[in-house]
Amino acid sequence: MSKFLISKYTKLEAYTPGEQPRDMKYVKLNTNESPYPASKGVIDAVSDEEVAKLNLYPDPECKFLKEKLAAYYGVDYDNVFVSNGSDEILSFAFMAFSSEETGAIFPDISYGFYKVYGDLYNVDYTQAPLKEDFTIDVNDYLNVGKTVVIANPNAPTGLSLSLEDIEKILQTNKDNVVLIDEAYIDFGGKTCAGLIDKYDNLLVVRTYSKSRSMAGARLGFALASKEIIDDLNRIKYSTNPYNINRLTLLAGAAAIDDCEYYKACCNNIIETREYSKKRLSELGFEYLDSDSNFIFARTDKINGEEYYKKLKANGVLVRHFSDPKISDYVRITIGTREQMDTLFAVTEKIFSEV
Ligand code: PMP
Repeated sequence: MSKFLISKYTKLEAYTPGEQPRDMKYVKLNTNESPYPASKGVIDAVSDEEVAKLNLYPDPECKFLKEKLAAYYGVDYDNVFVSNGSDEILSFAFMAFSSEETGAIFPDISYGFYKVYGDLYNVDYTQAPLKEDFTIDVNDYLNVGKTVVIANPNAPTGLSLSLEDIEKILQTNKDNVVLIDEAYIDFGGKTCAGLIDKYDNLLVVRTYSKSRSMAGARLGFALASKEIIDDLNRIKYSTNPYNINRLTLLAGAAAIDDCEYYKACCNNIIETREYSKKRLSELGFEYLDSDSNFIFARTDKINGEEYYKKLKANGVLVRHFSDPKISDYVRITIGTREQMDTLFAVTEKIFSEV
């Protein structure tokens, strides 16, 4: 830390992204990326001709991409916001809708960035404990008078909240934004995007990073009332008007045209997830019944950290969290069937050695 950093940032605990080691080729099941490549349409969209235009700024309004998203999701153009990864929307939303006065509430076990943004923007936030079974207690979020932030399905548990419960939260917090982070919704959860006309306090956040195989392009989007989208634009135009680069704008629009390809990828991942649950049971693991592209699992045979380390030593990366409430678990991203079979074979080898 330099002597120049202003005091409010000196204690900031930054977010730790999943590791991206370059020392060898790993079976990478640690950051919830898609194991499938971007579609042909996306690859073609990022042509040499377009790369040569990188001397020019991108469209700050992102009009073409937003038109495509609006048509695909059946909403108005004014209900769509696009961003540099969905992390950027989360950042803008914490900045716009929460503060020391307007607090925020989110689960104690959830996406780690919520806490980091809460700290960064000096938000008076509450972390509501998950129940014993790792589900969200909806009662913690009724009439709270704070900005509500919930990942649905939640991460790293993979468990979903019902649309009925989300509506209860929306109805009892009419003066606050309810942000539903649907990063993993395309793997089996039920989206609440259809509720944006009914609830002007609903902000639905989505990403291209998981179900659309574009984590490297950094593209997220939000669906909400025109007024909430206007607020997000106010923050965007006050920080980074050109928040999405030219190539990502093109790739994002092309991905919408290739939705059949991405649906097939999601179906493969769901099928492999269900196969993996079966295999994990056979190997003596307990796991949460994930609706997502990852499984949160533990076993009595080896503790979470040890298992993570031994897998890594054998060329397989999964994610381990040190929070004592979940340190016994690992989060395993669903890869291809072959990648999962490698994980299970390595696990059998590890178990034969302990
Ligand atoms: N929300 C959740 C719940 C996530 O797990 C992630 C990715 N790790 C994100 C948002 C951010 O994704 P991205 O910025 O790649 O869109």
